[in-house]
Amino acid sequence: MYFNDDDIKYLKSIFSGNKKILLITHDFPDGDAVGSIIACENILKNLSKDLRVYSFVNTDIPESYEFLLEDFNCFPKKEISSANFDICVVLDCGNIDRIGNAKEIEGLKIINIDHHGDNTMFGEKNYVFSSASSTCEILFYLAEALLSLPLNKKISRALYTGIVTDTGGFKFSCTSAMTHYAASMLYESKNANLQQVIEKIYFNEPFNKMKLLGEILSGMKLDSGICYSYISKEIWEKTKTNPKMVEGLVNFMASISDAKVAVLFQELPDKVKVSLRSRGDINCREIAHKFNGGGHIQAAGVKFPLPLEDAIEKLINYIKEKIL
Ligand code: 5GP
Ligand code: MN
Repeated sequence: MYFNDDDIKYLKSIFSGNKKILLITHDFPDGDAVGSIIACENILKNLSKDLRVYSFVNTDIPESYEFLLEDFNCFPKKEISSANFDICVVLDCGNIDRIGNAKEIEGLKIINIDHHGDNTMFGEKNYVFSSASSTCEILFYLAEALLSLPLNKKISRALYTGIVTDTGGFKFSCTSAMTHYAASMLYESKNANLQQVIEKIYFNEPFNKMKLLGEILSGMKLDSGICYSYISKEIWEKTKTNPKMVEGLVNFMASISDAKVAVLFQELPDKVKVSLRSRGDINCREIAHKFNGGGHIQAAGVKFPLPLEDAIEKLINYIKEKIL
């Protein structure tokens, strides 16, 4: 179990009264980040009508998760200041710099809820459980303790989204009995229609995203067990796609039997964003740490303030020389 009785007692005491609470997740949010923030907002609103809960996401939410955003209002960035809130809950974020607004919340009491093994424990309270598949899995157990089961439709759909996406549909090795228990209890929620959640995430792809996948796959190289590809400025333009459409695509490369590690480079206006995935012994987090990134052992990310070609050369050479 992730939370003990003292944790729940403490959380009940701070999530009480008419406190003003800010929820934040990491930039370039994935399904777990979006699911976490939506679920947490609704868990707290259900816990007490007196709480005032506001959510902030620094960069665009991928289109595949827009179905969760009904009634969601992103708190205005310019109004984020520690003076405006009593507590900040940071979700699914291993490192405070990933929220995009670390300076603005300086001095705020931070509750850190996460599952990254390299979490820097930046909170006043840190509920970091690296054995959990996802932050949404952790939030399920928090919701189970704070509210009664079954959870409402909105919370269940958000939690299921994070659990399903961070486990790659229960395929990745982070999946456990705790994960399946959480998922099975979400099925108890009336009208949650979790099959529809799957449809929204996996059977709702824009045509252009698949064209982008085609470009990524045809640009793939396999070198000493490293499978890598890139999305250049020209590819974004040719396929009429954008970074909101990249979610999940690196996993196709990681499914190749000879790929010990899969690496996808995205050329963005001011940087190159890199996704790393592995299934076996290669530690993606260790590679990412070398370049100030982070994440999990089998899924990590890093950003390079370099031209695309230089980022590719630097990272692939490093993996070849130091990791393999
Ligand atoms: P993705 O490749 O899907 O963007 O990220 C994979 C994993 O690495 C996620 O758990 C994500 O939170 C983490 N991650 C991605 N980029 C960064 C980064 O720049 N810094 C850190 N610390 N973690 C990252
Ligand atoms: Mn996560």
